[in-house]
Amino acid sequence: MRQTIVAGNWKMNASKESVNTLVLGILSGMADVESKVIVCAPFPYLSQAEALVTHSQLHVGAQNLNISASGAFTGEVSAGMIKDFGVGYVIVGHSERRSLYGETDAIVAEKVQIALDNGLTPLFCIGELLEERESGNTEIVVSRQINAVIDLVGIEAFKNIIVAYEPVWAIGTGVTATPQQAQDTHAFIRSLLAVHDSDIAQSTPILYGGSMNPENAEELIGCEDIDGGLIGGASLKADDFLRICKAG
Ligand code: PEP
Repeated sequence: MRQTIVAGNWKMNASKESVNTLVLGILSGMADVESKVIVCAPFPYLSQAEALVTHSQLHVGAQNLNISASGAFTGEVSAGMIKDFGVGYVIVGHSERRSLYGETDAIVAEKVQIALDNGLTPLFCIGELLEERESGNTEIVVSRQINAVIDLVGIEAFKNIIVAYEPVWAIGTGVTATPQQAQDTHAFIRSLLAVHDSDIAQSTPILYGGSMNPENAEELIGCEDIDGGLIGGASLKADDFLRICKAG
C-alpha cells in the first residue's frame, strides 16, 4: 500500500510574509490530512519554512541542486547546503529546468544521484511535450527519461526516489491530463520499473503533476497508479492546497 504524497512547487513565488502566511495556513488545516505533504520553497526561504514546520507533519523541499559539492559555481546551491538546513526533499528535472536551463537526461540523472548521496529524497520529474504526445511518442520519451536514471543509480535507489509524471503540456496551462491519460502513463512508468524489480515498482510513489486543482485532484489521485500530486499554481493558496492534500 503506497502512501499518498502531495508536494507543492512554489517555483519563484515567495516573500517572507507570504511564506509565513502560507505555511501557517497549511499547518492550521493539517490535523485531518493523512497524505505526506511537502512544500518546495525557493532557496532563500528554506530556512524560514523549515523553522515554521518544526515538530509538524509538514516537510520542506528545495527545487533544484547543483551536482558539485562546493567551488566556483556562482549562484548555485549544493545538495550539502540544502541538507544543512534540515531539508529532506529536492525537485530534480522539472520541465522548466529542462527547457529553460538546458538540463539533459544525463544531468538530471547526475542530480538524482547527488541528491541521494546526500540523503535527500529526489522528486524526480519526467514528462513529454505536447508534440511528443501528439506524435504518439509519450512512452518513448518517459522511457528515455526513466532509463537514464535507472542506468546511473540502479533500481534499488528507487526505494528513496519519488517519481513525478508531469506532461509538459499540462503544467501551468489549466489543461489537465484526463484521469485515463494519466493512469495509462503511470502504469507504463511502473512497468518500466518492474522490468528491473517488481517489488520496487509496486512501492515507488508516482505523483501526477499538471494543473491539478481541488476540483480534479480526487479523481486523479483515485486512479490505481497515481499516488498523489506535484502541484504548482494551486499550492500557493493554503485552502486550495489543503483540499488537494485531503483528496488523497
Ligand atoms: C509544476 O510546476 O510542477 C506544476 C504541476 O504546475 P501547475 O500545477 O501549475 O500546472
